[in-house]
Amino acid sequence: YGTAAIVGRPNVGKSTIFNRMIGERKSIVEDVPGVTRDRIYGKGEWLTKDFRLIDTGGIQLANEPFSEEIRMQVEIAIDEADVIVFLVSGIEGLTHDDEMIARMLQKSQKPVILCVNKIDNSERKDLIYEFYALGLGDPIAVSGVHGIGIGDILDQMVAAFPAKGKDEYEGMTRFCLIGRPNVGKSSLVNAILNEDRVIVSSIEGTTRDAIDTPFRHDGKDYVVIDTAGIRKRGKIYENVEKYSVLRAMSAIERSDVVLFLIDGESGIRDQDKHVAGYAHEAGKAVIIVYNKWDVVEKDDATMARIEKEIRKEFIYLSYAPIVFVSALTKQRVHTLLPLIDEVHDYSTMRVQTNVLNEVIMDAQLMTPPPTHNGRRLKIYYASQVAVAPPTFVLFVNEPELLHFSYKRFIENTLREAFDFTGTTLRIIARERK
Ligand code: GDP
Repeated sequence: YGTAAIVGRPNVGKSTIFNRMIGERKSIVEDVPGVTRDRIYGKGEWLTKDFRLIDTGGIQLANEPFSEEIRMQVEIAIDEADVIVFLVSGIEGLTHDDEMIARMLQKSQKPVILCVNKIDNSERKDLIYEFYALGLGDPIAVSGVHGIGIGDILDQMVAAFPAKGKDEYEGMTRFCLIGRPNVGKSSLVNAILNEDRVIVSSIEGTTRDAIDTPFRHDGKDYVVIDTAGIRKRGKIYENVEKYSVLRAMSAIERSDVVLFLIDGESGIRDQDKHVAGYAHEAGKAVIIVYNKWDVVEKDDATMARIEKEIRKEFIYLSYAPIVFVSALTKQRVHTLLPLIDEVHDYSTMRVQTNVLNEVIMDAQLMTPPPTHNGRRLKIYYASQVAVAPPTFVLFVNEPELLHFSYKRFIENTLREAFDFTGTTLRIIARERK
């Protein structure tokens, strides 16, 4: 799938158009403090093609002069997206800022879709003509408020996405490191790459992927996603929280396994929960890495105490293993790649249908579902329909009867039987026809 970004000066209607293009998708897990509600980054589908959309207007770069902020937003859009949706306003007309944005976009060579917003009725149609002067081709007339022209934007957007080339990382395990600034992401990547017998390959990526680092260890191929990207724009950008969240989300999307770093020196902060929630919602395998273990004052009980605290703060990540490491002294850094392999294997594991059914039928027999208003759930059979994350469909008499507690019981049963360390499981009930 491709990524598009909406750019434009303030008040042209970016977030209205964003919401129209994404539609009201409900996040899969409602009670996770995720970032899906931040509405700067969304996933949608058009003509069977999945796409990602960024609203750069939501990235506030505080303390910057007005036009500087727009300039940075456009820069981010050019970096992150395959296609730019450039929004202007027919009511306000062509402005100086619009011209500045247009020049930046022209220089970038990215495909641009020029959209004139606030064309709410046919009397306003003529307002689009002056925007031909931007030299970005035919403007599309749209109205975010009335939902006019949204289909045209989406058509042009998916048409402009680059053709799907062959996957250059085929057969490699992709992982990324996420966490707050200064948690030690770069240090840990370096520590992993400097481990004995790690060979950093010289495969040339495309321009966009050049920031990824492919390497080989113990006969297996890996790619660290996006690591240099952390450095690319330097700390100024990383400290813009929404921008670093955006970068993290895009790295998570492209990864099989997410290493979620917590800073052992400063402990867990609320900011940590955003990206961790997103990794969970995206269904990626997750490892919790507690870094800077060298500076933690500890006795025999410290590790157990911190583990308990992490479990309490990240209830939804109960399946994620926790590792205590030091990027500085390299303590336990060598355990990370084997663990990455392990959780990746679990997240892509397929359970044989007959074995799966044996386990679930046994569980149902031993612990029947509770009755609800005199009715009882009956599971007829189960089937694994997807991996990464493993997704199971239970064919039942009445799907509404599968309550949270019994779903959790089924999940625990599956984990007891097949482990699934490091990966979330999705369990869906369908009526047997
Ligand atoms: P990033 O912003 O997440 O990439 O973090 P960096 O890798 O730049 O590290 C931030 C700071 O933490 C640097 O000063 C590192 O030297 C330091 N640091 C990173 N890992 C460790 C660690 O395991 N122990 C200690 N004591 N310091 C660390």
